[in-house]
Amino acid sequence: MSSLDRVVMKFGGTSVKDAEMIKKVASITHEKYSGGVEVVVVVSAMSGTTDQLLEIGENLKKGKKQKANQLIDEIETRHKNTINQVISDKKLLGEVLGEVGEVFGELRLLADEMDNFIDRSFDYLMSFGERLSAPIVSAAIQDIGVPSTHLTGREAGVITNQCYGSAIPLSESNKRIKESVLPLLNESVPVITGFIGCSKNGDITTLGRGGSDYSASTIGRAIDADEIWIWTDVDGLLTTDPSVVPDAKTLKRISYREAMELSFFGAEVLHPKSIEPAIEKNIPVRVKNTYKPSFKGTLIVKDEEKVEGVVKGVSAERDVALVNITGMDIIGTPGIAADAFGALANADINIIMISTGSSEPTISLLVDEKDLSRATKALKTEFSDNTIEEITSDPEVSVITVVGSGMAGTPGIAGRVFTAIGRKKINIIMISQGSSEFNISFVIKNNQTKKALTQLHKEFGLHNINY
Ligand code: ADP
Ligand code: ASP
Ligand code: MG
Repeated sequence: MSSLDRVVMKFGGTSVKDAEMIKKVASITHEKYSGGVEVVVVVSAMSGTTDQLLEIGENLKKGKKQKANQLIDEIETRHKNTINQVISDKKLLGEVLGEVGEVFGELRLLADEMDNFIDRSFDYLMSFGERLSAPIVSAAIQDIGVPSTHLTGREAGVITNQCYGSAIPLSESNKRIKESVLPLLNESVPVITGFIGCSKNGDITTLGRGGSDYSASTIGRAIDADEIWIWTDVDGLLTTDPSVVPDAKTLKRISYREAMELSFFGAEVLHPKSIEPAIEKNIPVRVKNTYKPSFKGTLIVKDEEKVEGVVKGVSAERDVALVNITGMDIIGTPGIAADAFGALANADINIIMISTGSSEPTISLLVDEKDLSRATKALKTEFSDNTIEEITSDPEVSVITVVGSGMAGTPGIAGRVFTAIGRKKINIIMISQGSSEFNISFVIKNNQTKKALTQLHKEFGLHNINY
Protein backbone atom coordinates (compact mmCIF):
# COMPACT_ATOMS: atom_id res chain seq x y z
CA MET A 1 0.00 0.00 0.00
CA SER A 2 1.27 3.46 -0.85
CA SER A 3 2.18 5.69 2.06
CA LEU A 4 -0.17 8.38 3.20
CA ASP A 5 1.46 11.78 2.81
CA ARG A 6 -1.50 13.99 1.99
CA VAL A 7 -5.11 13.43 2.97
CA VAL A 8 -8.37 15.34 2.69
CA MET A 9 -10.63 14.59 5.65
CA LYS A 10 -14.27 15.62 5.44
CA PHE A 11 -16.34 15.70 8.60
CA GLY A 12 -20.13 15.55 8.19
CA GLY A 13 -22.83 17.35 10.13
CA THR A 14 -23.09 14.84 12.98
CA SER A 15 -19.30 14.82 13.30
CA VAL A 16 -19.40 18.53 14.21
CA LYS A 17 -22.78 18.57 15.91
CA ASP A 18 -21.58 19.67 19.37
CA ALA A 19 -18.54 20.54 21.46
CA GLU A 20 -17.70 16.92 22.25
CA MET A 21 -17.69 15.90 18.58
CA ILE A 22 -15.69 18.97 17.49
CA LYS A 23 -13.05 18.03 20.07
CA LYS A 24 -12.95 14.54 18.55
CA VAL A 25 -12.48 16.07 15.09
CA ALA A 26 -9.61 18.19 16.42
CA SER A 27 -7.99 15.17 18.02
CA ILE A 28 -8.29 13.02 14.87
CA THR A 29 -6.72 15.88 12.89
CA HIS A 30 -3.97 16.29 15.48
CA GLU A 31 -3.11 12.62 15.31
CA LYS A 32 -2.65 12.64 11.55
CA TYR A 33 -0.84 15.98 11.44
CA SER A 34 1.59 15.08 14.18
CA GLY A 35 2.32 11.84 12.33
CA GLY A 36 3.73 13.94 9.49
CA VAL A 37 0.71 13.78 7.18
CA GLU A 38 -0.42 16.90 5.29
CA VAL A 39 -4.07 17.31 6.22
CA VAL A 40 -6.87 19.35 4.67
CA VAL A 41 -10.09 19.38 6.66
CA VAL A 42 -13.43 19.93 4.91
CA VAL A 43 -16.42 20.59 7.16
CA SER A 44 -20.17 20.42 6.91
CA ALA A 45 -22.50 22.66 8.85
CA MET A 46 -23.40 21.51 12.38
CA SER A 47 -26.17 18.94 11.89
CA GLY A 48 -29.58 20.50 11.38
CA THR A 49 -28.25 23.98 10.59
CA THR A 50 -28.73 23.76 6.81
CA ASP A 51 -32.33 22.61 7.38
CA GLN A 52 -32.87 25.58 9.67
CA LEU A 53 -31.45 27.95 7.05
CA LEU A 54 -33.87 26.50 4.55
CA GLU A 55 -36.68 27.10 7.01
CA ILE A 56 -35.49 30.68 7.47
CA GLY A 57 -35.69 31.14 3.69
CA GLU A 58 -39.18 29.69 3.56
CA ASN A 59 -40.35 31.97 6.37
CA LEU A 60 -38.84 35.01 4.72
CA LYS A 61 -40.59 34.07 1.50
CA LYS A 62 -43.90 34.15 3.35
CA GLY A 63 -43.01 37.46 4.99
CA LYS A 64 -42.59 35.83 8.42
CA LYS A 65 -39.57 37.85 9.49
CA GLN A 66 -40.10 37.32 13.19
CA LYS A 67 -40.01 33.53 12.89
CA ALA A 68 -36.92 33.81 10.67
CA ASN A 69 -35.16 35.95 13.27
CA GLN A 70 -36.13 33.55 16.02
CA LEU A 71 -34.47 30.72 14.06
CA ILE A 72 -31.34 32.84 13.60
CA ASP A 73 -31.29 33.39 17.38
CA GLU A 74 -31.45 29.62 17.92
CA ILE A 75 -28.58 28.99 15.52
CA GLU A 76 -26.54 31.75 17.13
CA THR A 77 -27.07 30.45 20.67
CA ARG A 78 -26.08 26.92 19.66
CA HIS A 79 -22.90 28.04 17.87
CA LYS A 80 -21.81 30.43 20.60
CA ASN A 81 -22.43 27.86 23.35
CA THR A 82 -20.40 25.34 21.40
CA ILE A 83 -17.52 27.80 20.99
CA ASN A 84 -17.51 28.50 24.73
CA GLN A 85 -17.40 24.78 25.47
CA VAL A 86 -14.69 23.94 22.94
CA ILE A 87 -12.11 26.71 23.12
CA SER A 88 -10.05 27.00 26.29
CA ASP A 89 -7.51 29.60 25.17
CA LYS A 90 -8.91 33.05 26.13
CA LYS A 91 -7.41 34.94 23.19
CA LEU A 92 -8.56 32.37 20.65
CA LEU A 93 -12.00 32.29 22.28
CA GLY A 94 -12.36 36.06 21.86
CA GLU A 95 -11.19 35.88 18.26
CA VAL A 96 -13.52 33.12 17.17
CA LEU A 97 -16.52 34.62 18.99
CA GLY A 98 -15.80 37.91 17.20
CA GLU A 99 -15.45 36.23 13.83
CA VAL A 100 -18.59 34.13 14.17
CA GLY A 101 -20.42 37.22 15.48
CA GLU A 102 -19.55 38.99 12.23
CA VAL A 103 -20.96 36.11 10.18
CA PHE A 104 -24.19 36.36 12.19
CA GLY A 105 -24.25 40.10 11.49
CA GLU A 106 -24.11 39.31 7.78
CA LEU A 107 -26.83 36.66 8.12
CA ARG A 108 -29.14 39.09 9.94
CA LEU A 109 -28.54 41.71 7.29
CA LEU A 110 -29.39 39.21 4.59
CA ALA A 111 -32.59 38.17 6.39
CA ASP A 112 -33.53 41.80 6.77
CA GLU A 113 -32.98 42.68 3.15
CA MET A 114 -33.92 39.43 1.44
CA ASP A 115 -36.97 40.11 -0.64
CA ASN A 116 -36.07 38.71 -4.02
CA PHE A 117 -36.13 34.97 -3.71
CA ILE A 118 -34.06 34.06 -6.69
CA ASP A 119 -31.97 30.89 -6.53
CA ARG A 120 -28.83 32.96 -6.09
CA SER A 121 -29.95 34.48 -2.80
CA PHE A 122 -31.03 31.05 -1.57
CA ASP A 123 -27.58 29.62 -2.16
CA TYR A 124 -26.07 32.54 -0.32
CA LEU A 125 -28.42 31.90 2.61
CA MET A 126 -27.74 28.14 2.62
CA SER A 127 -23.98 28.72 2.74
CA PHE A 128 -24.04 30.17 6.24
CA GLY A 129 -23.98 26.81 8.05
CA GLU A 130 -20.54 25.87 6.77
CA ARG A 131 -19.32 29.44 7.12
CA LEU A 132 -20.12 29.15 10.83
CA SER A 133 -18.73 25.68 11.48
CA ALA A 134 -15.37 26.17 9.70
CA PRO A 135 -13.99 28.90 12.02
CA ILE A 136 -15.07 26.87 15.06
CA VAL A 137 -13.41 23.65 13.89
CA SER A 138 -10.28 25.57 12.89
CA ALA A 139 -10.12 27.22 16.34
CA ALA A 140 -10.64 23.84 18.04
CA ILE A 141 -7.66 22.47 16.10
CA GLN A 142 -5.54 25.47 17.09
CA ASP A 143 -6.67 25.11 20.68
CA ILE A 144 -4.90 21.75 20.90
CA GLY A 145 -1.71 23.11 19.41
CA VAL A 146 -2.00 22.53 15.67
CA PRO A 147 -1.71 25.65 13.50
CA SER A 148 -4.82 26.07 11.38
CA THR A 149 -6.53 28.55 9.07
CA HIS A 150 -9.99 28.47 7.61
CA LEU A 151 -11.27 29.24 4.14
CA THR A 152 -14.61 29.33 2.41
CA GLY A 153 -15.04 27.23 -0.74
CA ARG A 154 -14.83 30.46 -2.66
CA GLU A 155 -11.52 31.43 -1.02
CA ALA A 156 -10.22 27.92 -1.64
CA GLY A 157 -10.91 28.32 -5.37
CA VAL A 158 -13.93 26.06 -5.89
CA ILE A 159 -15.28 27.67 -9.07
CA THR A 160 -18.58 26.23 -10.24
CA ASN A 161 -21.16 26.63 -12.97
CA GLN A 162 -24.27 28.65 -12.16
CA CYS A 163 -26.63 25.77 -11.40
CA TYR A 164 -27.65 27.21 -8.05
CA GLY A 165 -28.58 24.52 -5.56
CA SER A 166 -26.65 21.80 -7.37
CA ALA A 167 -23.61 23.52 -8.81
CA ILE A 168 -20.76 21.57 -10.39
CA PRO A 169 -17.11 22.59 -9.97
CA LEU A 170 -15.43 23.60 -13.22
CA SER A 171 -12.06 22.26 -14.33
CA GLU A 172 -10.37 25.59 -13.67
CA SER A 173 -10.98 24.93 -9.96
CA ASN A 174 -8.06 22.50 -10.03
CA LYS A 175 -5.50 25.21 -10.61
CA ARG A 176 -7.19 27.70 -8.28
CA ILE A 177 -7.49 25.21 -5.41
CA LYS A 178 -3.89 24.12 -5.86
CA GLU A 179 -2.69 27.71 -5.72
CA SER A 180 -4.66 28.59 -2.61
CA VAL A 181 -4.42 25.38 -0.59
CA LEU A 182 -0.99 23.87 -1.28
CA PRO A 183 1.03 26.78 0.19
CA LEU A 184 -0.90 26.42 3.45
CA LEU A 185 -0.04 22.77 3.93
CA ASN A 186 3.58 23.25 4.98
CA GLU A 187 2.75 25.02 8.14
CA SER A 188 -0.91 24.41 8.98
CA VAL A 189 -4.14 22.50 8.58
CA PRO A 190 -6.53 24.44 6.35
CA VAL A 191 -10.19 23.97 7.28
CA ILE A 192 -12.37 24.52 4.22
CA THR A 193 -16.13 24.89 4.14
CA GLY A 194 -17.76 22.00 2.31
CA PHE A 195 -20.88 22.50 0.17
CA ILE A 196 -19.87 26.00 -1.01
CA GLY A 197 -18.47 27.13 -4.31
CA CYS A 198 -18.48 30.33 -6.29
CA SER A 199 -19.60 31.11 -9.80
CA LYS A 200 -17.35 32.90 -12.28
CA ASN A 201 -19.07 36.17 -11.48
CA GLY A 202 -18.35 35.78 -7.81
CA ASP A 203 -21.73 34.62 -6.47
CA ILE A 204 -21.82 31.93 -3.82
CA THR A 205 -23.14 28.62 -5.13
CA THR A 206 -23.91 25.37 -3.32
CA LEU A 207 -23.21 21.84 -4.53
CA GLY A 208 -26.51 20.20 -3.52
CA ARG A 209 -27.65 18.69 -0.22
CA GLY A 210 -24.95 16.50 1.25
CA GLY A 211 -22.51 18.26 -1.08
CA SER A 212 -19.59 18.52 1.35
CA ASP A 213 -18.48 15.04 0.23
CA TYR A 214 -18.30 16.42 -3.29
CA SER A 215 -16.28 19.41 -2.05
CA ALA A 216 -13.82 17.04 -0.36
CA SER A 217 -13.23 14.96 -3.47
CA THR A 218 -13.01 18.08 -5.66
CA ILE A 219 -10.30 19.43 -3.36
CA GLY A 220 -8.61 16.01 -3.14
CA ARG A 221 -8.44 15.83 -6.94
CA ALA A 222 -6.97 19.34 -7.21
CA ILE A 223 -4.21 18.81 -4.68
CA ASP A 224 -3.44 15.20 -5.64
CA ALA A 225 -4.33 13.80 -2.24
CA ASP A 226 -3.25 10.24 -1.53
CA GLU A 227 -6.64 9.48 -0.02
CA ILE A 228 -9.98 11.18 0.67
CA TRP A 229 -11.54 10.29 4.00
CA ILE A 230 -15.25 10.82 4.61
CA TRP A 231 -15.88 10.86 8.37
CA THR A 232 -19.48 10.21 9.35
CA ASP A 233 -21.77 8.72 12.00
CA VAL A 234 -21.74 5.08 10.86
CA ASP A 235 -18.99 2.46 10.40
CA GLY A 236 -18.50 3.05 6.66
CA LEU A 237 -20.43 2.20 3.56
CA LEU A 238 -22.74 -0.58 4.67
CA THR A 239 -24.67 -3.27 2.84
CA THR A 240 -27.77 -1.15 3.37
CA ASP A 241 -28.93 1.78 5.47
CA PRO A 242 -28.35 0.67 9.09
CA SER A 243 -31.09 2.99 10.31
CA VAL A 244 -33.56 0.84 8.33
CA VAL A 245 -31.98 -2.63 8.57
CA PRO A 246 -30.07 -2.86 11.85
CA ASP A 247 -28.01 -5.94 10.86
CA ALA A 248 -26.43 -4.13 7.88
CA LYS A 249 -22.70 -4.93 7.63
CA THR A 250 -19.77 -2.69 6.82
CA LEU A 251 -18.25 -3.37 3.40
CA LYS A 252 -14.48 -3.50 3.82
CA ARG A 253 -13.66 -2.80 0.20
CA ILE A 254 -15.77 -1.92 -2.79
CA SER A 255 -15.25 -0.44 -6.23
CA TYR A 256 -15.85 3.16 -7.27
CA ARG A 257 -18.66 2.06 -9.55
CA GLU A 258 -20.46 0.13 -6.85
CA ALA A 259 -20.17 3.03 -4.42
CA MET A 260 -21.50 5.38 -7.09
CA GLU A 261 -24.49 3.16 -7.81
CA LEU A 262 -25.32 2.77 -4.12
CA SER A 263 -25.06 6.49 -3.44
CA PHE A 264 -26.92 7.49 -6.59
CA PHE A 265 -29.83 5.31 -5.52
CA GLY A 266 -30.06 6.49 -1.94
CA ALA A 267 -27.04 5.54 0.20
CA GLU A 268 -26.92 9.00 1.70
CA VAL A 269 -23.55 8.41 3.34
CA LEU A 270 -21.86 9.59 0.11
CA HIS A 271 -22.97 12.35 -2.23
CA PRO A 272 -23.55 10.67 -5.63
CA LYS A 273 -21.16 13.00 -7.43
CA SER A 274 -18.36 12.64 -4.90
CA ILE A 275 -16.74 9.57 -6.43
CA GLU A 276 -16.19 11.02 -9.90
CA PRO A 277 -13.30 13.38 -9.00
CA ALA A 278 -11.63 10.51 -7.12
CA ILE A 279 -11.89 8.27 -10.19
CA GLU A 280 -10.23 10.92 -12.34
CA LYS A 281 -7.05 10.77 -10.29
CA ASN A 282 -7.50 7.24 -8.98
CA ILE A 283 -7.60 8.42 -5.36
CA PRO A 284 -8.92 5.86 -2.86
CA VAL A 285 -11.87 7.07 -0.78
CA ARG A 286 -12.28 5.84 2.77
CA VAL A 287 -15.51 6.13 4.77
CA LYS A 288 -14.93 6.18 8.51
CA ASN A 289 -16.83 6.58 11.75
CA THR A 290 -15.92 9.67 13.80
CA TYR A 291 -17.25 7.93 16.91
CA LYS A 292 -14.83 5.00 16.34
CA PRO A 293 -11.69 6.43 14.69
CA SER A 294 -9.70 3.19 15.02
CA PHE A 295 -12.27 1.17 13.04
CA LYS A 296 -11.03 0.73 9.46
CA GLY A 297 -14.28 1.60 7.71
CA THR A 298 -14.77 1.11 3.97
CA LEU A 299 -12.12 1.54 1.32
CA ILE A 300 -13.45 2.50 -2.11
CA VAL A 301 -11.05 1.66 -4.91
CA LYS A 302 -10.60 1.48 -8.68
CA ASP A 303 -13.06 -0.77 -10.49
CA GLU A 304 -10.48 -3.20 -11.85
CA GLU A 305 -9.08 -4.00 -8.42
CA LYS A 306 -10.35 -7.30 -7.19
CA VAL A 307 -13.29 -6.86 -4.86
CA GLU A 308 -15.19 -9.87 -3.68
CA GLY A 309 -18.88 -10.67 -3.68
CA VAL A 310 -21.70 -10.64 -6.20
CA VAL A 311 -24.39 -8.50 -4.56
CA LYS A 312 -22.78 -5.83 -2.37
CA GLY A 313 -25.67 -3.80 -1.18
CA VAL A 314 -29.25 -2.66 -1.47
CA SER A 315 -30.37 0.92 -1.25
CA ALA A 316 -33.60 2.87 -1.27
CA GLU A 317 -34.23 6.33 -2.67
CA ARG A 318 -37.39 7.90 -1.36
CA ASP A 319 -37.14 11.37 -2.87
CA VAL A 320 -38.58 10.32 -6.20
CA ALA A 321 -42.00 10.55 -7.82
CA LEU A 322 -43.80 8.77 -10.60
CA VAL A 323 -45.53 10.54 -13.48
CA ASN A 324 -47.92 8.56 -15.69
CA ILE A 325 -48.95 9.78 -19.11
CA THR A 326 -52.05 7.93 -20.31
CA GLY A 327 -53.91 8.04 -23.60
CA MET A 328 -55.00 5.59 -26.29
CA ASP A 329 -52.93 7.53 -28.84
CA ILE A 330 -49.75 6.39 -27.12
CA ILE A 331 -50.07 2.99 -28.76
CA GLY A 332 -49.00 3.28 -32.34
CA THR A 333 -48.37 7.04 -32.44
CA PRO A 334 -44.67 7.65 -32.90
CA GLY A 335 -43.10 10.60 -31.15
CA ILE A 336 -45.21 10.89 -27.99
CA ALA A 337 -42.38 9.65 -25.79
CA ALA A 338 -39.96 11.96 -27.61
CA ASP A 339 -42.32 14.92 -27.02
CA ALA A 340 -42.55 14.08 -23.32
CA PHE A 341 -38.75 13.77 -22.97
CA GLY A 342 -38.27 16.99 -24.91
CA ALA A 343 -40.71 18.90 -22.70
CA LEU A 344 -38.96 17.67 -19.56
CA ALA A 345 -35.51 18.37 -20.96
CA ASN A 346 -36.57 21.94 -21.78
CA ALA A 347 -37.70 22.35 -18.20
CA ASP A 348 -34.30 21.03 -17.04
CA ILE A 349 -35.83 17.95 -15.45
CA ASN A 350 -33.84 14.75 -15.24
CA ILE A 351 -35.67 11.49 -15.92
CA ILE A 352 -34.40 8.76 -13.61
CA MET A 353 -36.31 5.82 -15.10
CA ILE A 354 -38.74 5.21 -17.95
CA SER A 355 -41.18 2.46 -18.74
CA THR A 356 -43.66 2.11 -21.54
CA GLY A 357 -46.23 -0.64 -21.69
CA SER A 358 -46.46 -2.27 -25.12
CA SER A 359 -50.10 -3.14 -24.62
CA GLU A 360 -51.08 -0.49 -22.09
CA PRO A 361 -51.48 3.08 -23.25
CA THR A 362 -49.21 4.50 -20.53
CA ILE A 363 -45.73 5.97 -20.35
CA SER A 364 -44.38 6.09 -16.80
CA LEU A 365 -41.49 8.33 -15.84
CA LEU A 366 -39.62 8.55 -12.58
CA VAL A 367 -38.35 12.00 -11.59
CA ASP A 368 -36.84 13.66 -8.56
CA GLU A 369 -39.60 14.51 -6.09
CA LYS A 370 -38.53 18.14 -6.01
CA ASP A 371 -39.14 18.36 -9.79
CA LEU A 372 -42.61 16.81 -9.68
CA SER A 373 -44.81 19.88 -9.94
CA ARG A 374 -42.64 21.40 -12.69
CA ALA A 375 -42.69 18.06 -14.54
CA THR A 376 -46.48 17.73 -14.53
CA LYS A 377 -46.83 21.36 -15.55
CA ALA A 378 -44.39 20.95 -18.46
CA LEU A 379 -46.18 17.78 -19.64
CA LYS A 380 -49.64 19.33 -19.34
CA THR A 381 -48.48 22.25 -21.45
CA GLU A 382 -46.85 19.94 -24.00
CA PHE A 383 -49.97 17.81 -24.37
CA SER A 384 -52.57 20.54 -24.07
CA ASP A 385 -53.84 19.55 -27.55
CA ASN A 386 -55.63 16.50 -26.06
CA THR A 387 -53.44 13.75 -27.55
CA ILE A 388 -53.16 12.60 -23.95
CA GLU A 389 -56.10 11.79 -21.73
CA GLU A 390 -54.53 12.00 -18.35
CA ILE A 391 -51.34 12.94 -16.53
CA THR A 392 -51.24 11.56 -13.01
CA SER A 393 -48.50 11.44 -10.41
CA ASP A 394 -47.52 9.56 -7.29
CA PRO A 395 -44.88 10.95 -4.92
CA GLU A 396 -45.30 8.07 -2.46
CA VAL A 397 -42.85 5.75 -4.20
CA SER A 398 -39.24 4.59 -3.70
CA VAL A 399 -36.61 3.08 -5.95
CA ILE A 400 -34.96 -0.02 -4.54
CA THR A 401 -31.60 -0.87 -6.08
CA VAL A 402 -29.53 -4.02 -5.79
CA VAL A 403 -25.87 -3.32 -6.55
CA GLY A 404 -22.77 -5.41 -7.26
CA SER A 405 -20.25 -5.52 -10.11
CA GLY A 406 -20.22 -9.33 -9.89
CA MET A 407 -23.87 -9.33 -10.97
CA ALA A 408 -22.75 -8.76 -14.55
CA GLY A 409 -22.53 -12.17 -16.12
CA THR A 410 -23.95 -13.99 -13.09
CA PRO A 411 -27.25 -15.47 -14.22
CA GLY A 412 -30.25 -15.70 -11.96
CA ILE A 413 -29.81 -12.59 -9.82
CA ALA A 414 -32.87 -10.80 -11.21
CA GLY A 415 -34.91 -13.96 -10.69
CA ARG A 416 -33.85 -14.12 -7.06
CA VAL A 417 -34.58 -10.41 -6.51
CA PHE A 418 -38.12 -10.58 -7.86
CA THR A 419 -38.96 -13.95 -6.32
CA ALA A 420 -37.86 -12.66 -2.91
CA ILE A 421 -39.91 -9.49 -3.35
CA GLY A 422 -42.91 -11.46 -4.64
CA ARG A 423 -42.79 -13.71 -1.58
CA LYS A 424 -43.42 -10.65 0.56
CA LYS A 425 -46.32 -9.65 -1.70
CA ILE A 426 -44.70 -6.36 -2.59
CA ASN A 427 -46.07 -4.93 -5.80
CA ILE A 428 -43.47 -3.76 -8.33
CA ILE A 429 -44.48 -0.67 -10.28
CA MET A 430 -41.50 -0.33 -12.62
CA ILE A 431 -38.21 -2.17 -13.32
CA SER A 432 -34.89 -1.13 -14.80
CA GLN A 433 -31.48 -2.70 -15.23
CA GLY A 434 -28.49 -0.63 -16.30
CA SER A 435 -26.65 -1.93 -19.38
CA SER A 436 -23.58 -2.48 -17.20
CA GLU A 437 -25.64 -5.03 -15.22
CA PHE A 438 -24.11 -3.55 -12.07
CA ASN A 439 -27.54 -2.81 -10.70
CA ILE A 440 -31.17 -3.82 -10.81
CA SER A 441 -33.63 -1.13 -9.78
CA PHE A 442 -37.34 -1.23 -9.27
CA VAL A 443 -40.04 1.08 -7.97
CA ILE A 444 -42.42 0.22 -5.12
CA LYS A 445 -44.73 2.10 -2.77
CA ASN A 446 -42.94 3.98 0.01
CA ASN A 447 -44.60 2.10 2.82
CA GLN A 448 -43.01 -1.17 1.64
CA THR A 449 -39.43 0.10 1.54
CA LYS A 450 -38.29 -1.32 4.86
CA LYS A 451 -39.83 -4.69 4.09
CA ALA A 452 -38.14 -4.81 0.67
CA LEU A 453 -34.70 -3.82 1.97
CA THR A 454 -34.90 -6.33 4.82
CA GLN A 455 -36.02 -9.11 2.50
CA LEU A 456 -33.30 -8.52 -0.12
CA HIS A 457 -30.63 -8.12 2.54
CA LYS A 458 -31.61 -11.54 3.85
CA GLU A 459 -31.97 -13.13 0.41
CA PHE A 460 -28.37 -12.30 -0.51
CA GLY A 461 -26.99 -13.13 2.94
CA LEU A 462 -25.63 -9.62 3.36
CA HIS A 463 -25.71 -9.83 7.16
CA ASN A 464 -23.06 -12.58 6.91
CA ILE A 465 -20.59 -11.07 4.46
CA ASN A 466 -16.90 -10.78 5.19
CA TYR A 467 -15.52 -8.61 2.40
P1 ADP B 1 -22.94 13.17 7.28
O1 ADP B 1 -23.67 14.13 8.15
O2 ADP B 1 -21.73 12.58 7.94
O3 ADP B 1 -22.65 13.70 5.91
P2 ADP B 1 -25.17 11.66 6.24
O4 ADP B 1 -26.37 11.77 7.11
O5 ADP B 1 -25.12 12.45 5.00
O6 ADP B 1 -23.88 11.92 7.13
O7 ADP B 1 -24.93 10.12 5.87
C1 ADP B 1 -24.82 9.14 6.87
C2 ADP B 1 -26.10 8.36 6.97
O8 ADP B 1 -26.32 7.69 5.73
C3 ADP B 1 -26.06 7.24 7.98
O9 ADP B 1 -26.39 7.70 9.26
C4 ADP B 1 -27.05 6.23 7.42
O10 ADP B 1 -28.29 6.25 8.09
C5 ADP B 1 -27.28 6.67 5.98
N1 ADP B 1 -27.06 5.57 5.02
C6 ADP B 1 -27.94 5.22 4.04
N2 ADP B 1 -27.47 4.17 3.35
C7 ADP B 1 -26.27 3.84 3.88
C8 ADP B 1 -25.29 2.83 3.59
N3 ADP B 1 -25.46 1.96 2.60
N4 ADP B 1 -24.17 2.78 4.36
C9 ADP B 1 -24.00 3.66 5.35
N5 ADP B 1 -24.89 4.63 5.68
C10 ADP B 1 -26.00 4.73 4.96
N1 ASP C 1 -24.70 21.19 5.06
C1 ASP C 1 -25.09 20.69 3.78
C2 ASP C 1 -26.36 19.84 3.93
O1 ASP C 1 -26.86 19.68 5.02
C3 ASP C 1 -24.00 19.94 3.09
C4 ASP C 1 -23.49 18.69 3.79
O2 ASP C 1 -23.74 18.48 4.98
O3 ASP C 1 -22.77 17.93 3.15
O4 ASP C 1 -26.87 19.38 2.95
MG1 MG D 1 -23.66 13.69 4.08
